[in-house]
Amino acid sequence: MKFCAMIGTERRIRRMDQIMIGKFIAACRKEKKMTQAQLAEKLGISDRAVSKWETGKCMPDASLMPELCEQLGISINDLFNGRRVTMENYKEAAEAAMLQLKENEEKKNRMMLDLEIGMGIPSVITFVVLLGVAAYADIPNVLKAVLLIVGAVQFFFYLYHALKIETEAGYYKCQNCGNTYVPEFKDVVMAMHSGRSRKMKCPACGEKCWHKKVIYK
Ligand SMILES: [Zn+2]
Repeated sequence: MKFCAMIGTERRIRRMDQIMIGKFIAACRKEKKMTQAQLAEKLGISDRAVSKWETGKCMPDASLMPELCEQLGISINDLFNGRRVTMENYKEAAEAAMLQLKENEEKKNRMMLDLEIGMGIPSVITFVVLLGVAAYADIPNVLKAVLLIVGAVQFFFYLYHALKIETEAGYYKCQNCGNTYVPEFKDVVMAMHSGRSRKMKCPACGEKCWHKKVIYK
């Protein structure tokens, strides 16, 4: 079922590509001031075939592609992309992709750091409430012990995940040399901290100083 849907999607994409390529062929032909019949004649094929390409009904046969591209003054790469692919396009496309990647990463990091606080508040409240109940409620000692253990375990469970997030989301920036890096989990656990800054040894300059949490590299 899922597989069929996937093939369907791929077919739709291919059909869209074909239409785009067809339009591109038509545009290049018109640029060269040729009619469909003239282009067909040069390639030794029927003008019906050219019409079929241009409407996206089918792709030119691979054996015809080199000659077709030469007549249209484009590269095979241009033909498959349905547009003239220049160095400028390549750079633009690559830059847009990089920017998107960076934005996604920053968004994810910010979300994780928010989650760390969001999870921390209920965890601390739970711990305090359980502690209070264990201290003041008139219940058997065994039950008090269970409450304390549950409170502590859920709190340490939270602490572990919070430190995991602290380590992996974003970077630490060395105040001494400006190096940004992702530290080892154990270094983050062992380090003295104040807010989100931690006193750690910089892997670049080796200086032990305050490293600030940053979202950006
Ligand atoms: Zn440093």
